[in-house]
This record gives sequence, structure tokens and C-alpha cells, in this order.
Amino acid sequence: MTAPRFDSARFLTSAPRLAECPPDTGAEVAFAGRSNAGKSSALNCLTRNSKLARTSKTPGRTQLINFFSLSSGDHRLVDLPGYGYAKVNRDMKQDWDKNIGEYLAERRSLKGVILLMDVRHPMTDFDEMMVRWAVETEMPLRVLLTKADKLKRGPAASTFQRVRSQLHSQANWLSVQLFSSLKKDGVEDLETWLRAQLLD
Ligand code: GDP
Repeated sequence: MTAPRFDSARFLTSAPRLAECPPDTGAEVAFAGRSNAGKSSALNCLTRNSKLARTSKTPGRTQLINFFSLSSGDHRLVDLPGYGYAKVNRDMKQDWDKNIGEYLAERRSLKGVILLMDVRHPMTDFDEMMVRWAVETEMPLRVLLTKADKLKRGPAASTFQRVRSQLHSQANWLSVQLFSSLKKDGVEDLETWLRAQLLD
């Protein structure tokens, strides 16, 4: 097994729920976040493929779990449906809870979760829910504070410190970093964390 190269990511398949996911072998890391948090941009930046996450934005695919395989072996990146789309009605939110909840609870190859939050609006109710779940299930979770270029260094650093102490008070398998797809800041830190989870 070689170290994963994220520029080798290729679209594998989409699934509406756990039963349709690809075989539950090897290791994968899932990307979650509220819609508009910057998830597609971060995936494109990480994989050096400006078209990669377009798949997940194709109408009809936004509610699906999208899988990308890496050439390093049985490794995958997983793009979970964005949560809390303004137009999404209550039934669709319930579907999200049910289908993604089931994936998160049952997927054995899931080794870590990246939770993306806009640095200007961190720790929404959805984010708090995901963090609580990671504490309860002992799932390694990395928060990406996205669009860090939108804040000056001082305010970005203080948001980072605040979120970090909030996470560290709950579990030592929770961590946080600043990230900017626009400036390509934080990519190496993200890669290091992902490799650690995939190769663990
Ligand atoms: P998604 O809905 O979570 O997949 O979010 P997108 O990746 O589509 O990004 C939502 C919006 O935020 C788009 O207008 C992006 O151009 C913008 N955006 C994403 N990442 C960054 C970033 O690092 N810096 C800035 N300034 N804008 C960003």
C-alpha cells in the first residue's frame, strides 16, 4: 500500500444510501458541511482537479453520497450531500438525517470526517451535531475553517483558537485548521491529516 496521492482521485460512483454504497473495504474519509461552506472548492483544491466535485453539484446528484477512488489502493474520498440547503424542505432534511446518519453509523471503512465550516460562521447547529456524533463514536474529525482569505490574520487566528479550545475540551481526536481554496492555504496540513487516517 503506497501513500495516497490526492491528485489521483477519480469519480467512482454515487449512492443515495448505505445499501448502494461501494464495497465496505479499505479506508475512506468523508467530507461534510452545510451547503455553501466551500466543500466542492476544497475537494477540487485538494485533488488539483477543478472539475472533480462538479459531479456532486450536478442536479439530481446533490442529495447523493459521491465516492472518489484514489490510485493508492483501497482508499476513497467521499463527498456527503451538503446540509441545510435553503430550498430544502423538512422531508429532505429528514432524508439527510436518515440516509447519512445510517452511512455514518454503519460504514466500517469510514476512518475520519472532514467537517467544513465557513470561517465567518463556525459551529452552526449542524456543525455542533456532527461534533457531538464524532465524540460519541470516537471518530477522528478535522474541522476546516474555510474561506480563511475572507478574514484578516488576527480575526482568523482568534476564530481558530476559539474553535480549537471548544473541540479540545470534548475529545483529543477532534482538530481544526484554517483553509483557503482560493489561496491554496492549508492544503499540506489537510493532506497530512488525511494520510494519517487512511493509512492508520
Ligand atoms: P459547497 O456548497 O460547500 O460545495 O461550496 P462551494 O465550494 O461551491 O463554495 C461556495 C462559495 O464560496 C462559492 O462562491 C465559492 O467560490 C466560494 N468559496 C469557496 N472556497 C473559497 C475560498 O477559499 N475563498 C473564497 N474567497 N471563496 C471561496
